[in-house]
Amino acid sequence: LAMGSVSIPPPASLLRPLETPQRLLSGPGPSNVPPRVLAAAARQIIGHMHGEMLEIMDDIKKGIQYAFQTQNNMTLAMSGPGHVAMECAIFNTVESGESVLVAVNGIWGERAAEIAERIGARVNTIVKPPGGYFTKEEIEQALVEHKPVIFFLTHGESSSGVVHPLDGIGDLCHSHNCLFLLDAVASLGGSPILMDKQGIDILYTGSQKVLNSPPGTAPISFSERACKKMFHRKTKPLSYFLDMGWLANYWGCDGKPTRTYHHTGPISGFFTLRESLAILAEMGLENSWNRHKEVAEHLHKGLESMGFKLFVQEKHVRLPTVTTITVPPGYDWREITVYAMKHHNVEISGGLGPSSGMVLRVGLMGYNSNKANADKVLEALREALKHCHKSKV
Ligand code: PMP
Repeated sequence: LAMGSVSIPPPASLLRPLETPQRLLSGPGPSNVPPRVLAAAARQIIGHMHGEMLEIMDDIKKGIQYAFQTQNNMTLAMSGPGHVAMECAIFNTVESGESVLVAVNGIWGERAAEIAERIGARVNTIVKPPGGYFTKEEIEQALVEHKPVIFFLTHGESSSGVVHPLDGIGDLCHSHNCLFLLDAVASLGGSPILMDKQGIDILYTGSQKVLNSPPGTAPISFSERACKKMFHRKTKPLSYFLDMGWLANYWGCDGKPTRTYHHTGPISGFFTLRESLAILAEMGLENSWNRHKEVAEHLHKGLESMGFKLFVQEKHVRLPTVTTITVPPGYDWREITVYAMKHHNVEISGGLGPSSGMVLRVGLMGYNSNKANADKVLEALREALKHCHKSKV
């Protein structure tokens, strides 16, 4: 090809250095990444099938088993964000035409229902407005009525700020011959979950919330019961990339002596996830749960003393990782979030899906979960109330 055949010039913006701001990521995620985890991301990569890499993946598997409190052998990290784990869970365990029950009390149930619909499942929902949660009786009634093969519930509803009570739901599902699928993207590590003891069949989380890794990997685990269902299906899962048959081999969970190439995993993402899980292991799960609770209570007290109303009324279902605040009457939520970002470098989010326009959301997760950060958020909100326009109506 002749010189001078390039007619599209290099973009001027790429010829300038990369710039990124320093911010307190106190929205619903991602959260700030601590130096030790950042350092892991800066390491030179190795091959995705090199022995050292497979050992790191084995460490990750053990770290997830600890974080989830499970002995499930089928435990690994997905290459991708939380949505990839959501689709993996549903695509592998549900076949077209099967009945699925989804609890919708915010955006995550809505999305799970749509994912299941897309693979041709018969989806039924039980629905509560944002801020609500389900009683065991309500769940049981729907299990009896719809006879689902799987029940989807969100543990930490990051759009509404509710942490769903878990006790008894696993047993209930099993007594109705149904798998219990739990989304813990926004809660894992910040609020108690005991996968095995609570009878959770499929559990997943994301790397970018309490675990404080960059976004892009998603721990997931399947119980024996879930494995039985997904490895005895009549049809292949719709997605090649998300096929647990392949992923089980890639992660050394299928008992075969060799692991074969399926896809190239996010190597740097696995380095960081290993470090995040190591930090959690060093700190101890209970300490992490307690710290999130204490910091959330500190934040809640501060908010209430400034006249804010917490969106979730019942204390015991307030999610310690993501706090929802009722938008103060007369204020525009957008103006508050813009003010906090512009003048304080503090991220505060609005609502999402069914909670849009109703709430402000503050997330303090993992490394970000301390009283000093809670105080920064309180200060930003105090100033925002002073400086944002308040309508007379
Ligand atoms: N579930 C919940 C409860 C979440 O909070 C999120 C992320 N906000 C997701 C699922 C999806 O995760 P991701 O954005 O990593 O795909």
